[in-house]
Amino acid sequence: MRSKINQAWIDHWLGLGNVVELSCPTVTPYAVLEASGHVGEFSDFMTQCGSCQEASRADSLLEAHHPNPDALKRDELQSLLEAEKPPCPACGMTDWSEILAQNLMFNTTIGAGASGRPGFLRPETAQGMFTSFNALYRHFRERLPFGAMQVGKGYRNEIAPRQGMIRLREFNMAELEYFIDPESPADDDLSAWDTVSFALVPDGKKPVEMTLEVACQQGVIRHATVARFMGITYDFLAKVGIDMNRVRFRQHESDEMAHYAMDCWDAEIEGSFGWIECVGIAHRGCYDLESHEKATGKSLRARREFDEPRTTLVDAWTIDGATAGPAFKALAGQVKATVEGLPKSTTFPATVALENGETVVIEPEHVKPNQRTLKETGEWYIPHVVEPAFGIDRIIWHVLDHAYAEQEKNGEAYTVMQLAPAVAPVDIAVFPLFEKEGMDDAAAKIHQRLCGRPGTVSMYDGSGSIGRRYARADEIGVPQCITVDHQTLQDGTVTLRERDTGEQVRVPMDSL
Ligand SMILES: [Zn+2]
Repeated sequence: MRSKINQAWIDHWLGLGNVVELSCPTVTPYAVLEASGHVGEFSDFMTQCGSCQEASRADSLLEAHHPNPDALKRDELQSLLEAEKPPCPACGMTDWSEILAQNLMFNTTIGAGASGRPGFLRPETAQGMFTSFNALYRHFRERLPFGAMQVGKGYRNEIAPRQGMIRLREFNMAELEYFIDPESPADDDLSAWDTVSFALVPDGKKPVEMTLEVACQQGVIRHATVARFMGITYDFLAKVGIDMNRVRFRQHESDEMAHYAMDCWDAEIEGSFGWIECVGIAHRGCYDLESHEKATGKSLRARREFDEPRTTLVDAWTIDGATAGPAFKALAGQVKATVEGLPKSTTFPATVALENGETVVIEPEHVKPNQRTLKETGEWYIPHVVEPAFGIDRIIWHVLDHAYAEQEKNGEAYTVMQLAPAVAPVDIAVFPLFEKEGMDDAAAKIHQRLCGRPGTVSMYDGSGSIGRRYARADEIGVPQCITVDHQTLQDGTVTLRERDTGEQVRVPMDSL
């Protein structure tokens, strides 16, 4: 089921036409996650029970005492913890240690002995796609927009994992990094969702229902690419069988949004745990590429050509050859390059560092004012990123939650898993009415033929009454069942039964 959902996700986003799938290492060097901000920032506030030593997330303990404890700073949480004294979930005592920031990454060592270097299991798949930017840029012939996507494992050393598949230390995620030129009008056609009313919870405002087009026009959604990705996310959730009446998009509050993010919406799904964030769609500005550029000194940029070459007047300094030449001799060339890079406001004498690292003092008589024109045909810029990030385990769990139905049949409780055909782990079940008189052989043959079709999972079941077998298939969400009976042996027809309607039709075996 997970493979099917992963594949459905990849196929769905490939529809953009300009994305490529990557598979990056899960073990990541320290420097990468230091540059991304995870080493410094990626933490939860933890407190320990003085009585039983159980560690708890401070914000979780205070959920009953504050509308959004997740957004509080450490000092605010500390005061609230001391004022409210919530009971320990393990032992009921109220003796809490001072709150500490606990980094959520699993650390490890890459390599052995003295050459071993610190590293982490990746907390998200995104960083590998940012550090691959230059390879992606070449792959897409240096033309934006384009995207990279990845499905795989992420790891977070959660302080107190709970709610089963909702919060795991090792989890499955799917992320897309879509690189755009902030100055080019994005080609974001929203007409495909003209008739869909989206349930939106904008930051600080009442929930509304409107189309994506209207939400963009009214400034509720701040970026058209974010809106389009919300539409694509909506279609994906519908395809895998989520009940779309139980999906809403909630905008991050400004204090909950990362400081660099320009807009961020979560797709929340309602299930037995209430409303749970399952997808985040964030406009991250140029933050990620810029951070890695700063940390490595390597350019992570795209080039944008101007419509017309631009000439700019540079008003600055150059050297006076007559005096600087004899003064600096072999270094004169380097001095000239350095002086021409100084701003007009520089006062002399000035001490400057040359390219070779040497320091020289430049006197007023070595320089003269210099005005020149600079002609440029284009410029290098840091692309912006829009990132949809999906929690695959949370989606699987809600697919199961929404598909689970209890019905009544002949006065008895009857359970059906109404899974969408795209994600049902078994596509079809084949039953002989009785395992005798050749019905079993005919059914086994059909089963074998189905198993030979790529991507089809068939199940043969000859055990128990036929009603019991239908019930077992319904319980695991098999969309269709085929039954071989006496008539099959005479005219080659079988019964095809649809799970959700219970409808049965006779069809020739060869037209299945
Ligand atoms: Zn305790």
